Amino acid sequence: MNVDRRIIRTGAVVGAALLLGTAAVPAAADPGPPDRDPVAVGRGGAVATADPDATAAGLEILRSGGNAVDAAVAAAAALGVTEPYSAGFGGGGYFVYYDAAEGRVHTLDGRETAPAAMGEDAFLEDGEPIPFAEAVTSGLSVGAPGTPATWEHAVREWGRTPLRRVMRPAIELAEDGFTVDATFQQQTAQNADRFADFPATAELFLPGGAPPEPGTVFRNPDLADTYRAFAAKGTRVLDGAIGADIAATAADPETVPGTDRVVRPGLLTAADVAGYEVAERAPAHSEFRGLDVYGMAPSSSGGTTVGEALNIIETFDPDEIGDTGVRHATLEAAKLAFADRNAYVGDPDHVDVPTETLLSDAYAEQRACAVDLGAALPAPVPPGDAAGGDGCAAAGEPAPEGNEGMSTAHLVTADRWGNVVSYTLSIEQTGGSGITVPGRGFILNNELTDFDFRVSDTGAGANNLPAPGKRPRSSMAPTIVLRHGEPYLALGTPGGATIITTVLQLIVDRVDRGLTLPAAMAEPRVSQRNAAQTGAEAAFLGSPAEAELTALGHEFTEVPEIGAAAALEFRRDGRIQAVAEPERRGGGHAAVLRPSR
Ligand code: GLU
Repeated sequence: MNVDRRIIRTGAVVGAALLLGTAAVPAAADPGPPDRDPVAVGRGGAVATADPDATAAGLEILRSGGNAVDAAVAAAAALGVTEPYSAGFGGGGYFVYYDAAEGRVHTLDGRETAPAAMGEDAFLEDGEPIPFAEAVTSGLSVGAPGTPATWEHAVREWGRTPLRRVMRPAIELAEDGFTVDATFQQQTAQNADRFADFPATAELFLPGGAPPEPGTVFRNPDLADTYRAFAAKGTRVLDGAIGADIAATAADPETVPGTDRVVRPGLLTAADVAGYEVAERAPAHSEFRGLDVYGMAPSSSGGTTVGEALNIIETFDPDEIGDTGVRHATLEAAKLAFADRNAYVGDPDHVDVPTETLLSDAYAEQRACAVDLGAALPAPVPPGDAAGGDGCAAAGEPAPEGNEGMSTAHLVTADRWGNVVSYTLSIEQTGGSGITVPGRGFILNNELTDFDFRVSDTGAGANNLPAPGKRPRSSMAPTIVLRHGEPYLALGTPGGATIITTVLQLIVDRVDRGLTLPAAMAEPRVSQRNAAQTGAEAAFLGSPAEAELTALGHEFTEVPEIGAAAALEFRRDGRIQAVAEPERRGGGHAAVLRPSR
């Protein structure tokens, strides 16, 4: 679907929406489901996201002369409209960018930060962690948003198009509306109880008191205004009324009278919001079968954990160990790498993270010596000794994984100049904190629930305790893979900690198992994160692979669908293959500028 068609399709109902004064109104004529194409091949640039309108926004910017960075920000801003429970202005994320002219990968850490007043016991009451669900739906979990600064920094440093122009498709989308689909309705319905307790959220997302029906048009004029202000002034809006509103809403969320929901106030101040700084960091780099894999270094655990696991897998020869061997080695590598992630990774501006060690081949060799090709290691396994010594030996107790939501959005873009972006952005839980900034059209994140609330009985978790200005550890893993210094793959996914295993599985499926990218995308997913059981999608259970791995001692347990990835492959003939999810979360949409047959 292109943007023009969307506007024509929804234009007829805009007047009706204004008359009724509601966000969602029945469409004048059944617009049918938006077109979704999970695979596109061609030249001139590409976009893949979870949503046709977001893909169209990116494509429109590419078409008008923007580069991959501009298109990524345009698509992300559009996701803030159509996927407001996963991504948006009130959240954070990680932006990985391959600059073709420089031949170099840059990364931006746009993770939310803790308020200056947040101490390490912020989530404890009487020495005990507060109930997790109460932490999610609270002002306390709201970090200073990093997304506005990420968009501004990326476009200013690397873009070719003014922010004003980049934001235009998303502004139009928010103003004109998009057609509600089943996923949007379901996500609203899942959240309806808590949304109903916040007047600003209920007014926007429960028009008439109920989730919008599929086929209706959903408009968000408040968000259009917020985006307009941002398009004109950039992050200066955070120094002004919008920033003040974010802080005031987190500090004292308004609830409906008489609710018995416990909603704790937050610690965020206007100074925290206005003072947010995006961090340019050196990428996490590892080599895998001669490819250069670039990911997000801490504060995300994505890059180090994917990189370490790949390094461990690389110690085995896929031809020697066969398909089941590769699958087994992947599960074991994830197990070991997660043990290290949970023990060692946190915000590097606040704690020492042995990033170089975790990504080194020498360390991977030590960790790989624990792998038995004939039997699964009993999990949880302890972390390795990152300070040196014998990596096969335990170094302390296994650390817990922590709590992460399953929301978030990932997108990939490429342009005619050869630049590539892989960008994951989030407000953490599906529906974030559930708290909408009144009159601003976006929900605040609950990303600070990604901190460990306290050190465990075994002494683990210290690296990821809250602290003033600290970023909670993430699992987001936007990744770009180079072959002989040129882009080969760009990929990522939502899914909390399963992000890491999905990115790992996609790379291994493509590179070691020889699946095409669309086949790798459709392949049933499994997720081993240093637990006795490996989560698996229903389609994996009962498969021959499950039987073979079970014979090696793996135990699988069914979990809901894992991830909603988006990826690009750059072919040797110069064409780009853009791939979105075919089914998960309702399916995504991939497009290229000049399709080829
Ligand atoms: N908060 C999670 C993280 O930073 C992301 C949540 C998700 O993907 O749903 O890793």
